Amino acid sequence: MGLISKLRYFISKPPKVLSVGHPILRIKSKDIPVSEVNSSKTKEVISQMKKVFQSPFAEIVGLSAPQIGHNLSIIAYQINSKAQEYVPTVGKKEVPLTFVINPKVTLLDDEKTFIPSYEACESIPQYNCVVSRSNNIRFEGFDVNGNKFEKHVSGYLARVIQHEFDHLQGILITDCMEKKSLRHNKYIDEYEMYISAGHKK
Ligand SMILES: [Zn+2]
Repeated sequence: MGLISKLRYFISKPPKVLSVGHPILRIKSKDIPVSEVNSSKTKEVISQMKKVFQSPFAEIVGLSAPQIGHNLSIIAYQINSKAQEYVPTVGKKEVPLTFVINPKVTLLDDEKTFIPSYEACESIPQYNCVVSRSNNIRFEGFDVNGNKFEKHVSGYLARVIQHEFDHLQGILITDCMEKKSLRHNKYIDEYEMYISAGHKK
């Protein structure tokens, strides 16, 4: 990304993404009353979250309102071609930036069949770790116009939604990661070489 897009990003005054240790990341987020789905407060939080997705410094696939300091039940996700380039498991389907208010997630798979995969989080910068997730979920909530929906989601997007939904419960990936799987981004190549040289995980 060029200097212009970085400058443009700073001028938009994006909110700070809170890091692990901030108390808001540890409390349960409040559902938004249906009458307030279209309120100016809700719209403002959504517009602040939108700015974070425009960051030229990170490839963001998901975000929750508590991460920018609001304990409200709002999550957002986006899967674009850049994310597809970085994460081989993303799949071919692009997903436009989508906001969901008061999401509810029901895991449809048995815990024994959960799929382990590395995950990162904007609130735990520079690290990633293995989290096992249900490959299929039932997902419901309200869209930005206050329309209720319910659908079945699977694969990578189901993982992203579970991650963001966890944020609304005050749960971070380090709480549910596979023991000893936490690694700093600067060691990813070293780690892959260590494993491919025949060392066990
Ligand atoms: Zn996160």
